[in-house]
Amino acid sequence: MNLVGQMMYMPLLLSSLLQQAARHTGSVEIVSRRVEGDIHRYTYRDCHARSMQLANALTSRGIVAGDRVGTLAWNGYRHMELYYGVAGIGAVCHTINPRLFPEQIAYIINHARDRLVCFDMSFAPLIEQIAHLCPQVETWMMLCGEAALPPSFAVPLESYESFIDGQPQHFVWPQFDELQAAVLCYTSGTTGNPKGVLYSHRSLTLMAYASVSPDALCLSACDVVSPVVPMFHVNAWGLPFSAPMVGAKLVLPGPKLDGESLCTLFEQEGVTVSAGVPTIWLGLVDYMRRTGKRNPLFKRAIVGGAACPPQLATSMRECGIDTIHAWGMTELSPLGTVCSPSPGYASKCADEQARIDAKQGRAIAGIDLKIVGSGGEELPWDGKSAGDLMARGHWVLDRYYGVDQSPLEDGWFPTGDVATIDADGYMQITDRSKDVIKSGGEWISSIELENVAMSHPEIAMAACIACEHPKWDERPLLIAVRRPDSALTAAELLAFYDGKVAKWWIPNDVIFVSELPLTATGKLQKLTLRQRFGKHYVEGSAPSA
Ligand code: ADP
Repeated sequence: MNLVGQMMYMPLLLSSLLQQAARHTGSVEIVSRRVEGDIHRYTYRDCHARSMQLANALTSRGIVAGDRVGTLAWNGYRHMELYYGVAGIGAVCHTINPRLFPEQIAYIINHARDRLVCFDMSFAPLIEQIAHLCPQVETWMMLCGEAALPPSFAVPLESYESFIDGQPQHFVWPQFDELQAAVLCYTSGTTGNPKGVLYSHRSLTLMAYASVSPDALCLSACDVVSPVVPMFHVNAWGLPFSAPMVGAKLVLPGPKLDGESLCTLFEQEGVTVSAGVPTIWLGLVDYMRRTGKRNPLFKRAIVGGAACPPQLATSMRECGIDTIHAWGMTELSPLGTVCSPSPGYASKCADEQARIDAKQGRAIAGIDLKIVGSGGEELPWDGKSAGDLMARGHWVLDRYYGVDQSPLEDGWFPTGDVATIDADGYMQITDRSKDVIKSGGEWISSIELENVAMSHPEIAMAACIACEHPKWDERPLLIAVRRPDSALTAAELLAFYDGKVAKWWIPNDVIFVSELPLTATGKLQKLTLRQRFGKHYVEGSAPSA
């Protein structure tokens, strides 16, 4: 006979995280650098109170469970209130990436059927451009006070502060099924239209619980956490949920993400841990090297969203900052792996440790991974066999929003990444399947070639793409940005590969450019590079050996 456990049942709801922070670590600060340019500071208790005002305002406006509320906003306290106020009443906070094309933004606002869209002042020109394309939006709301509203605008506007002003600072968060949707986030749509990933209260809460553990992001009440990764990009990797969960001070950097702005903010606010894509850390480390500035409190940078070049990790270490490599994707909410030490790590030599640090890491509790070959057969965890990476777990997508057919294969989500897994469980991405270079039927890892180029002292950034080739089908082409004042030649850079990778992996040519195109989420835009340079070896004078 089944015997049911006799413990309390409390649904895993996001509102409980903020309520916990307000009740138990209520005086801990949330500091925001605002779009207006100044610094705003208040406490978890204040954040909870204003989120409850928002919940009251939304309810009296007729926003009900299941309705979607769009946000186009930087990392800041009002965005935080929207996360909790909207999801807390059972509605869905739809975070929109403002760096997408305007037509894509209009597409996802319509696809999500947002009733209300809240946006930072800096996005007003964008809203003027797209508002007429989104007729079902009932209210456009600017995240500011009444006085800051523009005197004339393409559509009627409301101010957020007037919306919540005068509302009671008390609200009883409804208890509902934890499987209900809380947040909606669209993939960046590098191919085709963006696809919606609809997170549940349960999936986000469970990820928050798993992510704070020592082998994951290792967060505690003694940390000062600054998510540089935007709140419009997969919930800033869950930090707006995990920081209140442990009662850590939260520092939200707003729109200024250059090296100098981050360095100053981190120093002023005592930030101990932060998270962002490699390009952010390249900017910070560049600034710290130029100015000689050091910050003894800032110890840990979580690097994800794209591979962390080993050279970046070395430069960060020289500035006193440890990098922690993490891998994930929108469909994984996004945390999948974190590169934390396993038992044998401490006894390994520095080179071997660096090789491990370059890997994307081990699956965090709650996530399972496997790699499969072209016939779907599971490949061994030997650190060498590369196959399609599949994931399953409590916060992995089951199906896309508004799409009936599930992408799952036998209960596993195909990530679109190609990876190896070693005997200790460390996963290493060799490529995104669409970026793999297939030369004479063999695979070459573009990430590894980029890492070698980036370790050259005169290279600032590098991308490696598959380039059509008359003899080998595809050959690697390196596109690189030199550091200022460098006169490095293609031949010198190619010679740098000698002894670092197999001879046949070495790119046939290098093209130097002044900058590389980045995607809406700050990653190398390889599609654009392939369109521009993909025929370099078949057209014209390029070396074709
Ligand atoms: P998209 O880039 O498609 O908008 P995501 O932001 O969800 O979507 O990116 C997920 C992808 O980013 C992963 O599938 C993987 O290819 C890449 N990625 C994320 N983290 C890492 C990492 N640490 N190393 C290498 N690639 C990564």
